Amino acid sequence: MSIPTLISSTIPIADHEVLGDQDFQAPTARLRGAGTAGLGELDDLERGDRLARMREGTLGSVHSWELVTAVDGPGTRMTIFLSGCPLRCLYCHNPDTMQMRNGEPIEVDELLARIKRYRKIFRRTGGGITLSGGEVLMQPAFAARLLRGARELGINTCLDTSGFLGAAATEQMLADTDLVLLDVKSGIPETYQKVTGRALQSTIDFGDRLDAHGIEMWVRFVLVPGLTDDPENIDAVARIAQRWESMSRLEVLPFHQMGRDKWKSLGMAYALEKTLPPSMERVDEVRDRFRSFGLTVH
Ligand code: SF4
Repeated sequence: MSIPTLISSTIPIADHEVLGDQDFQAPTARLRGAGTAGLGELDDLERGDRLARMREGTLGSVHSWELVTAVDGPGTRMTIFLSGCPLRCLYCHNPDTMQMRNGEPIEVDELLARIKRYRKIFRRTGGGITLSGGEVLMQPAFAARLLRGARELGINTCLDTSGFLGAAATEQMLADTDLVLLDVKSGIPETYQKVTGRALQSTIDFGDRLDAHGIEMWVRFVLVPGLTDDPENIDAVARIAQRWESMSRLEVLPFHQMGRDKWKSLGMAYALEKTLPPSMERVDEVRDRFRSFGLTVH
């Protein structure tokens, strides 16, 4: 999910035998292909072959990846942004991840070899990998192989998803997933439709399924003045989160304008041109509102 992450930071470079400067990317200004250089030169593959390999999951379309701490799950994480998304969130700060064709073709084995390089730092910090996007479940077979491969390496796994394509997650994928960051973009169906262009129910259904499996969830909600901050909407999100016992925290992420230039450079109409970020007081109020529902809020 390309949702605002104002608190993100890259990790200090402490492990020189494992990490190099080229491994680090600015967290909120991701460029297409960031971190993927050298991970596959597949331009000469026939289109049909490429699609077949994407269907079986040996090849994926990857926008970029980065190493971050304090976001996208516990510890230091390698967050991998897969290309393609069925949603059209008005506040998306990486709209270049929406189209799968914008990604770089990457071999699953090459990516797993890269992941393996960071095992030490994952172990030291309690981190792991986070599969994000775009929408990770646009490429379920590729995601499944990454999750399985990471598990076999003893690496913590996390999915960051809107849940809209939750039905595409197999039981094996869920068995290989330690944590899900589930974006509940609005609690009122009409507002959800307005924000994303899609229907809310699939997200609730996926959360119910995760809960039935006892998979830990962090619910994420982006607070956008004039769009998602209506008290009725806040309460509706809270009631959805309340139904999931395996939800351990709810994160309120303040909207920001860091993605504005990308919309422009892609020639896409940006509806939130004049929307200001919420004040910290307003963010605190909303967090307190969620807490009044008995939720653990960050
Ligand atoms: S459009 Fe897709 S990538 Fe962008 S914020 Fe929404 S779910 Fe995330």
